[in-house]
Amino acid sequence: MLSGVKHIVLVLSGKGGVGKSTVSTQLAVTFKDCGYKVGLLDVDLCGPSIPYLLNLEDKDVHQCPQGWVPVYADKEQNLAVMSIGFLLKNKNDAVVWRGPKKHAMIKQFLTDVYWQDIDYLIIDTPPGTSDEHITVMENLKTLNCDGAILVTTPQAVAIEDVRKELTFCRKTGIPVLGVIENMSGFVCPTCSECTNIFSSGGGQSLANIAGVPFLGCVPIDPRVALSTEKGQNCVATIPDSPISAVFQDIVKSL
Ligand code: ADP
Repeated sequence: MLSGVKHIVLVLSGKGGVGKSTVSTQLAVTFKDCGYKVGLLDVDLCGPSIPYLLNLEDKDVHQCPQGWVPVYADKEQNLAVMSIGFLLKNKNDAVVWRGPKKHAMIKQFLTDVYWQDIDYLIIDTPPGTSDEHITVMENLKTLNCDGAILVTTPQAVAIEDVRKELTFCRKTGIPVLGVIENMSGFVCPTCSECTNIFSSGGGQSLANIAGVPFLGCVPIDPRVALSTEKGQNCVATIPDSPISAVFQDIVKSL
């Protein structure tokens, strides 16, 4: 249930692979490190990657009289996580469901998880503007959803897709909190020179045109990709990553 949740933030992206789940995870961990109690809800039913990103793949959720008890990513229990990944018997099982079943599952995620009192609930959504998004939006309409953060990479093709997300937010009445440009340049670990592997500045100009805040550029950090590959909690293992500093600023601006 969401009655004890003070703020709800959706994370959306136009396409897969732009780092939406990484951004959701970094946001959640940064909020937690700033002293907040945080929930992270993964509604990407067909591609749940949050358990993997936080190295929680072997964890299960339990029932209590108030509902599902989420998995805690830290021993102080300040970061609670819920994902369909925790409910699958076999971690490699594919979720092959039609709309109504997905709709019911998301509804249950939004009503039956015992988050308790938390400051921020970050919701990681699937890419695009699918059934799942409509279900989330419909169920959040009556609640205090702060708005959505749109994640893009600097490539023109990804930015075009973010335009569709903007339209989607407008049509469904969800405020846009801002745009994050991920994989925005590569900072050389030896000489600190920044190489823009893709074009640059696309996220900022899209935000300007759309009249929404630009929240920041998150550089490529190969250590993030490598630790993700190894199934390690990327944030916990790389505290000195330039990514951490960017997220500190983003969280302060929200
Ligand atoms: P999405 O949720 O949009 O599909 P993911 O968050 O799963 O994308 O990220 C896709 C891949 O890109 C992952 O392997 C992740 O580690 C990597 N990645 C994402 N953002 C960065 C970054 N800023 N630097 C390095 N690797 C990144």
